[in-house]
Amino acid sequence: MSRNLHIAIVGATGAVGIELLRVMERRSFPVSKLTLLASARSAGKKLEFRGEMHEVRELREDSFAGVDVALFSAGGGISKTFAPHAVSAGAVVVDNSSAFRMDPQVPLVVPEVNGADVAGHRGIIANPNCTTAITLMALWPLHREFGVTRIFASSYQAVSGTGAQAIEELRKQVEATVKGEPLVREVYPHQIAFNVLPQVDSFLETGYTKEEMKMQNEGRRIMHHEGFRASVTCVRVPVYRAHSIAVSAEFERPVSLEAARRVLSAAPGLRVTDDPVAKVYPMPLDCAGEDDCRVGRLRLDCALENGLSFWVSGDQLLKGAALNAIQIAELL
Ligand code: NAP
Repeated sequence: MSRNLHIAIVGATGAVGIELLRVMERRSFPVSKLTLLASARSAGKKLEFRGEMHEVRELREDSFAGVDVALFSAGGGISKTFAPHAVSAGAVVVDNSSAFRMDPQVPLVVPEVNGADVAGHRGIIANPNCTTAITLMALWPLHREFGVTRIFASSYQAVSGTGAQAIEELRKQVEATVKGEPLVREVYPHQIAFNVLPQVDSFLETGYTKEEMKMQNEGRRIMHHEGFRASVTCVRVPVYRAHSIAVSAEFERPVSLEAARRVLSAAPGLRVTDDPVAKVYPMPLDCAGEDDCRVGRLRLDCALENGLSFWVSGDQLLKGAALNAIQIAELL
């Protein structure tokens, strides 16, 4: 692939789309031409990239002529319909939605874990679920050292994980509460301000949500670990940006805190932030806007054999979406 690329962003006006622009700027990603695409509602709107304004166009089947890499972040339905058109036009698609993540023909990639899988792509590469990607940033180095068998986890997911409208919903609900005005609910089924919702995505017959099963299903593909099991409760919290996950992991081999700290400290894209006595641990406020994820609250698990518990936080708009997508594009 040439060094200067024609990049298309599908969903350029969304929470992830805007971050894609900022990440490409920060990493000096080689862009010679930029095509910004969204719905008809946004056609004509202008977005800044490297000091120049670029007009957003309505997404159409013929939007991809001459495009080298198309970054999709406009939902699964749009990806399913339009990614094949981008591939036919000769582009490589990096898709942020869940549309192709379980397709065996499509590599599902966290570059720090299975970057080599990119080489097997046939036009589409999938970006994993944000909670899964952030968890694996800490779990993968531990797995290589001790061999993970299963995890029990709860997530604390920021509203920006739902998109731009959810950020507004939290902001307006906080404002209305402070003013004593009635709250408006549009995005979430219940009030999100000053509340937590033990539901992310829709429920399956098993009682788990779709989001909760992504940890096991996508984790198996990314780590090449078919026996990996994950029982997860995903929770939406009134945090604007950055997800956190409390994980209790069981391993095949005995775990020591010293070895755990050593492998986590050496892991790329991860910072050990763990000094509980000094009240130092990862928090979403500190991770928002940061490329690195943070891990802390490390302790030997008191209820599992060979178990380790930890807390990992990371900016899901970055490592869970835009940064990971650009890292994949860099691997190309
Ligand atoms: P968002 O803020 O709601 O943005 C959605 C984007 O899709 C907007 O640019 C919107 O354009 C565009 N869009 C909607 N309908 C369209 C249509 N019919 N044709 C063309 N464009 C259309 O959502 P987001 O949070 O950025 O998420 C986008 C995707 O990334 C989703 O698949 C999501 O699952 C995935 N993802 C998000 C995160 C996250 O942390 N937010 C993390 C990982 C993956 P308009 O402005 O014109 O409506």
